[in-house]
Amino acid sequence: MKQQWIYLNGEFVSKEDAKISVYDHGFLYGDGIFEGIRIYDGNIFKNKEHLDRLYDSAKSIMLDIPLTIEEMEAAVIETLRRNEMRDGYIRLIVSRGPGNLGLDPRRCPTASVIIIVEQLAIYSEEAYRDGLVSVSVSQRRNIPDALNPKIKSLNYLNNILVKIQANLAGVGEAIMLNAQGYVAEGSSDNIFIVKNNVVYTPPCYIGALEGITRAAIMELCEQLGYKLKEEPFTLHDVYVADEVFFTGTAAEVIAVREVDGRKIGSGKAGPITTHLLQKFRELVKVDGVRAFD
Ligand code: PMP
Repeated sequence: MKQQWIYLNGEFVSKEDAKISVYDHGFLYGDGIFEGIRIYDGNIFKNKEHLDRLYDSAKSIMLDIPLTIEEMEAAVIETLRRNEMRDGYIRLIVSRGPGNLGLDPRRCPTASVIIIVEQLAIYSEEAYRDGLVSVSVSQRRNIPDALNPKIKSLNYLNNILVKIQANLAGVGEAIMLNAQGYVAEGSSDNIFIVKNNVVYTPPCYIGALEGITRAAIMELCEQLGYKLKEEPFTLHDVYVADEVFFTGTAAEVIAVREVDGRKIGSGKAGPITTHLLQKFRELVKVDGVRAFD
């Protein structure tokens, strides 16, 4: 097995030696933020958008990242090069850093910065063609007034509770509603539906992360001439949709063929989903920053 190098507070350490303090508030309280980015054939897809979201999340929780955005980009590229990773997944983590057992972030003078790069394949090509089976879950999305889902915080218990319900139902991704009963998103993906050739996705104020794949798909819809509406919808609209799909950095654009026992459309990935996936896969190789040349 090839040695895996992890960026840990300015140094490169082996996976085995990549350790943080048990007093790190990221560990104690989920106090921190993160990003998940993909590199495709040497191209860091939507690099700027991901870094901007990381720094926006940090600002929102008043966390000072001890690197400028340019230094962070350089650290990511160096981590990719050391690991000779031309295709894979990049996880950026910034926690409040080590403090004491109290909540007070003023006791954490230095944030911890970690960059991990790994291979990734979550769904088979068959799943992209045939679509996933999904369910809605009882777990509601955090209300934005309490912990805004736009912040990609290390506190992912809301999402993990959805994942547990998805696991119990034997599905890979589940649909979460907000406190008012509108469809919000998946445990780690945004959601879209298609009805009568119109593409719909919930606005993020409903309670969803401003997904970068979501934004890319919205742009593609515009370029390809699909009518797009960002508006709230309910589970009923999902059940009667012609197509349903999830979007995310890891999942890309994955069709859903069944929700809560209701067959969606033809029961396979629909034509608009398939078209968007195809165009998305062209985009990922060109939109971003080259890490190797
Ligand atoms: N929603 C949540 C809760 C997420 O964690 C993610 C990231 N995996 C997404 C949506 C999709 O966002 P992106 O397209 O930026 O990966």
